[in-house]
Amino acid sequence: MNLFDVYPLNNIEITKASGSNVWDAEGEQYLDLYGGHAVISIGHTHPHYVARLTEQLDKVGFYSNSVKIPLQVQLAEKLGQVSGKADYQLFLCNSGAEANENALKLASFYNGRKKVIAFKGAFHGRTSLAVSATDNPKIIAPINETDNIIFLPHDDEAALTQAFESYGNEITAVIIEGIQGVGGIKEASVSFLKLIRSLCDQYNAVYIADSVQCGYGRTGKFYSHDYAGVDADVYTMAKGMGNGFPVAGISIAPKFKPWHGMLGTTFGGNHLACAAALAVLEVIEQDNLMKNAEEIGTYLITELKKIEAVKEVRGRGLMIGIDLPQTLSNVKKDLLFKHKIFTGEAKPNVIRLLPALNLTKDHADQFLNEFKKALKG
Ligand code: PMP
Repeated sequence: MNLFDVYPLNNIEITKASGSNVWDAEGEQYLDLYGGHAVISIGHTHPHYVARLTEQLDKVGFYSNSVKIPLQVQLAEKLGQVSGKADYQLFLCNSGAEANENALKLASFYNGRKKVIAFKGAFHGRTSLAVSATDNPKIIAPINETDNIIFLPHDDEAALTQAFESYGNEITAVIIEGIQGVGGIKEASVSFLKLIRSLCDQYNAVYIADSVQCGYGRTGKFYSHDYAGVDADVYTMAKGMGNGFPVAGISIAPKFKPWHGMLGTTFGGNHLACAAALAVLEVIEQDNLMKNAEEIGTYLITELKKIEAVKEVRGRGLMIGIDLPQTLSNVKKDLLFKHKIFTGEAKPNVIRLLPALNLTKDHADQFLNEFKKALKG
């Protein structure tokens, strides 16, 4: 049997990983500023994480949601405390797309409506509703229903107001990444997020903050939307939540009332997933990683802005986009193969940095030195 060939591979096999470093099968060491796409939040093979998961596997690895799982309650409490949203409710699932899928469904259950406002450049996942709200026609199959999605230009207050004036009472939700990731590290302005909040209040629509990539402390606050001082109704999270273990969640405002069977999944919130997610939150808290993300991120952004060849530097904390002119289209590849640094990319020529939140200043300096060399070719 062959693999169904849907991923463009770079042909590197990672056989060992620790902190912000990984090694390939030949023993070559790399600096990992990609974290497997914003997934590695507390560093590879963190000892506390490994211990917690191993201990849990030894006790009970899995049982379904037909039994009491106190770890879920502990996780909800910890998440409420670390995120500053103790009065929200947690629903656990397995991936970012699934979290967004359920968030949109929850919104529709809540207000009985169908239309969704999404934005140009957005990425919300590849399941049915999530992909419909994603701005990439190439990944939308004929079976995916897009008639109810209204795509607006990102960060355009007049267009948003106009859409609510036209469709207000039909709009179930607005879904927005506080900082677009796949779209090239583009931050929504404070006034735009505030406007979403007030229009959702006025029209009883649901504000869904897709925090799958920009959340979980990456920007220096738990949710990037926190910078705007607004509370979303629903936050979706995945990636960094499990540091590699597939676990995702939805943090849901108190006004939403559940009923049995409303949302569900076999694997969601299993014992191992909860142990992984708890270990991540414990490390984020104990090691003050949100502060570190803010400090090292600010340092990187400041230094990158001084480099003349760079068109623009965007982002916050350890979610950084380096926009390069097309003439420097080789840099991303050179960083990996010549300078042994993993980074991400976005079109047209943006390098994305999404490292672990405990990245050190030495790592940041290593990147800056190698990046300057790569720019020279
Ligand atoms: N939302 C955002 C903002 C994402 O970046 C992604 C993944 N790139 C998703 C949702 C989908 O997450 P998953 O791949 O876990 O389904």
